[in-house]
Amino acid sequence: SPAPEFHEARERGLRRAFEAAWTILLNNGSALDAVVQATVELENDPVFNAGVGSCLNQDGEVEMDASLMEGATLRAGAVGAVRTVQNPILLARAVMEEGRHVFLAGDGADQFAHKHGVSAVARAALITERQQQRWTEKHTQGEPGTVGAVAFDKAGRLAAATSTGGIFDKHPGRIGDSAVIGAGTYADDTLGAASATGLGEAIIRTTLTRTAAEFLRGGIHPTQAARRAIELVQQRTGSEAGIILIDALGRVGYAYNAPTMSTAFLSDQTLVILD
Ligand code: ASP
Repeated sequence: SPAPEFHEARERGLRRAFEAAWTILLNNGSALDAVVQATVELENDPVFNAGVGSCLNQDGEVEMDASLMEGATLRAGAVGAVRTVQNPILLARAVMEEGRHVFLAGDGADQFAHKHGVSAVARAALITERQQQRWTEKHTQGEPGTVGAVAFDKAGRLAAATSTGGIFDKHPGRIGDSAVIGAGTYADDTLGAASATGLGEAIIRTTLTRTAAEFLRGGIHPTQAARRAIELVQQRTGSEAGIILIDALGRVGYAYNAPTMSTAFLSDQTLVILD
């Protein structure tokens, strides 16, 4: 299991991401801007499996997935298996803002990035020594690190965002739940917003974030809805997953059946970081 320094680094990263998002919300910014900013911070932090520090696929290459959704409008943007962008979540946002499509994958998504001024990066620059070493040593053991954020702003709007390098040693071209609206990411102001982590194949098959949002109906607390959603993944697929969830009142909940899932959230005006 990861060393203590690794935990500390993750905690620092979570705090930085939370503070960036919280500053936006305090200044009347949108939930969408807040989740994007939190995700950018986490993508830029090599300790997480997203952006720089993404895990490597079977060919030893990085292919990243990301998506986001705005609960007021149901606008969404998603990218799968992108290889040359610094921040996949900014590319997902550009896809959403451009408005014609929701989901772009592979070379076409990278092309879209270059056309729309989303910063490019050399593929090698996304590979950290740590991830290279895991790949060389053929570590089969999973390791957490997908990033996600949900937010509720002063205007009562919700948003969700998710970004990942996917799962270690995945087949080239494999796209996971983090790029799939309704699976890894979902937001609807009338229900709630959610971001998921865990085995992408199981999360897609259970349309986990959309299902969790449905579980909020009738004013069910997000903690309970999150637990129900994870129980469903467990019972129907036997796989590990985790979810963060926020409802239309701004109440938060989370649940996971994996060994760990780091979270940061505000409770009674106090920042809580669990790692
Ligand atoms: N859900 C991600 C995927 O399957 C991986 C993870 O969350 O660890 O791509």
